[in-house]
Amino acid sequence: MNEELALFRDNVRRFIAAEIAPYYEQWENAGIFPRGLWNKLGEQGLLGVDLPETYGGSAADFRFAMIIVEEFSRANFGSIGGPMTVHSDIVAHYILNNGSEEQKQRYLPEMVAGACVGAVAMTEPGAGSDLQAVRTTARRDGDHYIINGSKTFITNGQHCDMVIVVARTNMEVAGSRGTSLFLVDTNLPGFQRGRNLEKIGLHAAGTSELFFEDVRVPASAILGEPDRGFAVLMGELQRERLSLAIGAVAAAEGVLAETVGYVKERKAFGAPLAALQNTRFKLAEAATDIRVHRAFVDECKTLLMNAELDVATASMAKVATTEMQGRVVDTCLQLFGGYGYMREYGVSRAFVDARVQRIYGGTSEIMKELISRSLLD
Ligand SMILES: Cc1cc2nc3c(=O)[nH]c(=O)nc-3n(C[C@H](O)[C@H](O)[C@H](O)COP(=O)(O)OP(=O)(O)OC[C@H]3O[C@@H](n4cnc5c(N)ncnc54)[C@H](O)[C@@H]3O)c2cc1C
Repeated sequence: MNEELALFRDNVRRFIAAEIAPYYEQWENAGIFPRGLWNKLGEQGLLGVDLPETYGGSAADFRFAMIIVEEFSRANFGSIGGPMTVHSDIVAHYILNNGSEEQKQRYLPEMVAGACVGAVAMTEPGAGSDLQAVRTTARRDGDHYIINGSKTFITNGQHCDMVIVVARTNMEVAGSRGTSLFLVDTNLPGFQRGRNLEKIGLHAAGTSELFFEDVRVPASAILGEPDRGFAVLMGELQRERLSLAIGAVAAAEGVLAETVGYVKERKAFGAPLAALQNTRFKLAEAATDIRVHRAFVDECKTLLMNAELDVATASMAKVATTEMQGRVVDTCLQLFGGYGYMREYGVSRAFVDARVQRIYGGTSEIMKELISRSLLD
């Protein structure tokens, strides 16, 4: 198995070197994730790799899926890796684990091929951390539901062919008991994409507002049980948070490796920066920080594969690793001096791209809330 994993990692690296690295800067400058890239990723077997073969996947296990996350993160190509994670590791698994057979047959093979791009729309202008405050509604109308509302900050919003929409189906009860998830095709009348939002980093990754005005979907578009959307969300968040944690560790490893190369070359006061004790200590601290966190995410990988990763542990992984990533990129940028602040140096991109890791997928503060609940409640 180790040989298979190494071979797969090698293939992913080769794909990144040939198909991503030469164009990435151009895509970042234009703020564009080319639509055709989704098809190319599908052709290469890089989407939904751990889905069953019945649905077009390779029936590989979680470790293979995470190799993809790691290699895009390590290479500092978050604008491609992030959207892929949403599509393959979040949306596809929501459907696999909670969908009807018809929903799985309909969406998963197309998602694996890159013909159907997936997104998940929870966040609204008035509801981010507090998902119970979601105001998008889905009103029952015979065999259909009619969806009204708006979402924001939605990754893949510009390309998605299908979006999982979090909507209230019962306003009389608390959000946790009156929310449902819907698989909404974006070619339906009443669906509209807003602008591609301008971000401080991850420029090529599309992040959009989405609008729903009397969007009519069949009752069969509900994912899981009606009014039980929160249960579905809670069941899936562990994998999402661990994917972010695994990406955080790999991104930190990547930027550290680049910095080690730089300090050996760059000279100050007649010697390489690497000769200065401050440089040596900072690198030693960063390497130790990364190593400790890698051991923890490796433990969490095993827990997830044994279906034993609980909410508190996944939250610990997410908050610990993304905060670590922030520390490491800051240290590394400092060692680059003024060059670290220049866009042509990858470390500057690693720095801005790392910042959002502490915000999306549940903020650091929300992670701490979840961990403390497991201790106190
Ligand atoms: C680039 C990007 C991509 C994203 N992609 C998606 C996506 O694909 N789909 C999607 O649905 N969403 C997505 N999001 C949204 C993201 O999940 C939210 O931004 C995040 O959950 C925080 O919500 P908020 O922005 O409304 O902040 P708020 O909830 O308003 O939080 C503001 C601050 O208050 C703190 N806070 C809030 N509640 C508490 C509390 N109880 N205790 C302590 N502190 C608290 C927060 O930690 C934060 O520091 C994305 C966001 C970004 C920036």
